[in-house]
Amino acid sequence: MTVSVKTDIPPDTLLIGIGASPGIAIGATHLLNRVRVVAVERSISSEEVAAEVDAFWKAVALSRQQLEEVKAGVTDQHLVEHLYIIDTHLLILGDAMLTSDTVALIEKEQINAEGALKRTLRKFREIFDSIEDEYLRERRSDIDSVGDRLLRNLVGVTQQSVTEIGKKAIIVAHDLSPADTMQMDKSKIIGFVTDVGGRTSHTAILARSMGIPAVLGLETATGLIAAGTPTIIDGTSGTVILNPSAETFREYLKKKQAYEYHERELLAYRELSAETLDGFRLALRGNVELADEVPLAISQGAEGIGLYRSEFLYMNRPLPPSEEEQLQAYRDILAKMAPHPVTIRTLDVGGDKFVPEINLADEANPAMGLRAVRFSLKERRLFKIQLRAILRASAHGRVRVMFPMISGVAEIRACKVLLEEAKAELVAEEIPFNAAISVGIMIETPSAALIAGLLAREVDFFSVGTNDLIQYCLAVDRGNEHVAYLYEPLHPAILRALKMICDAGREAGIEVGMCGEMAADPLYSLVLLGLGFDELSMNAPGIPRVKRILRQLRRSEGVAILDEIFGFATAREVAEYLEIEMARRFPEYFAGPIP
Ligand code: PEP
Ligand code: MG
Repeated sequence: MTVSVKTDIPPDTLLIGIGASPGIAIGATHLLNRVRVVAVERSISSEEVAAEVDAFWKAVALSRQQLEEVKAGVTDQHLVEHLYIIDTHLLILGDAMLTSDTVALIEKEQINAEGALKRTLRKFREIFDSIEDEYLRERRSDIDSVGDRLLRNLVGVTQQSVTEIGKKAIIVAHDLSPADTMQMDKSKIIGFVTDVGGRTSHTAILARSMGIPAVLGLETATGLIAAGTPTIIDGTSGTVILNPSAETFREYLKKKQAYEYHERELLAYRELSAETLDGFRLALRGNVELADEVPLAISQGAEGIGLYRSEFLYMNRPLPPSEEEQLQAYRDILAKMAPHPVTIRTLDVGGDKFVPEINLADEANPAMGLRAVRFSLKERRLFKIQLRAILRASAHGRVRVMFPMISGVAEIRACKVLLEEAKAELVAEEIPFNAAISVGIMIETPSAALIAGLLAREVDFFSVGTNDLIQYCLAVDRGNEHVAYLYEPLHPAILRALKMICDAGREAGIEVGMCGEMAADPLYSLVLLGLGFDELSMNAPGIPRVKRILRQLRRSEGVAILDEIFGFATAREVAEYLEIEMARRFPEYFAGPIP
């Protein structure tokens, strides 16, 4: 490969993307040849049909073989637990909708295999694009990844593998598949940036688990960055700096050293409990989407799973999972997490996106539409199957069931009626379960916060979903970059809502947790402690840092700052106050070079 440095890039050119995997990498770029294969559709004669169908099946077989090879090549323990991603890709490859729809198109429409595949993939993409939930929507990238592989194999185009990179580099690519990421040799690939992708894509999840800094979603990186460009990437803030000046270089070298030092130091906190200096103990738990993420949560010191997003089980498949299949999945998580508790959140999706047998109309306003528990209460048969599976799992470990997006008492009562029905069925069938299973709700709508006192009488625990609570309280779409500046966790309205929820929970004597992203930001730890949260559940890598902070705080300090906090009129004032308070206590985190 010829190395050419674009001299027209001015020093310290700044690009901002999505910080998908924390850490700092400094080095020269390597452009990965990821020319997208464009499928060209053409009509074929009836004599050509058999050959096109045959070519399609050969491409499927070759893709399968390649994925099996990636799997066989993974030995790194951190990656073994992520092999489910490749398994997911293998499942997609074997998906009847993908293969039989394509073959049917070749046969019925008499078009070539490439064209037929393109049409089938477009249909899949449309389904995924209409999904409102960010995590699930990004599973589209798995379909894209399999689709690209199939297409390349169909037209016989090979692409450069990450394993061919011979010297240390920061990879720049339009997109990287999870399979690419898994094959990365950390001693060579010190970081990567891509045009597409988001924080919850599998590529991002893998990068975090491998400890490779990554900035995704830069949109135009491949057009702008030449091979060999000296580059700094900061995967924490999502910053990329091209042609850094000597001064910027020194600044980031210091940041990198400080980051690496703190990461090593944090390892020591994994085994310790999250107990404050005045003996107040919080439960720090992990948020997971899949059983395979549980070992990572354990390795980060999670004392249970505070949010299991069960919707993942319903994905990548034409029909929803059976009761037995769900039971196996729940038992798997429980067994891995034992003796700690696992909170299973019931299905949190909207509409007909995953359940083709149910055909609901498109909604003008999906965030306020038939989503989460509203969907479950409408599709009661589906809901009952899930409740039965959760109940049956409760015979095998500490399961808690949690209902998402509750907006009023009638809704939780309706859920409990169904739960009781499911229990009665199991009793009649002599199937064991824990009759005293803990029942909780997510508090993520303003109405739920306002009537937290009424809701607290109905349940055993609350878990605050700040991702949604903030969006609904402040009327700010959590995925809309144009109003992102209004998405403020420290907004006085949010702080008041959190206080109402905690006070109501305490008065009723029930546990109050938080499982939104706000729980993972150590800047908020002092306030959350003061408000009286019993549990903080977060993405696993966030746990050691929050634990370290909590262990050096007193709950009384948290309570003492509340008066001050509630005296401020804007989120900025609260943030400035908190930054000073936290920097005074933890200069290495809040006042030093690490943001
Ligand atoms: C939340 O809304 O804060 C939450 C944890 O749920 P999700 O991000 O899955 O909507
Ligand atoms: Mg939510």
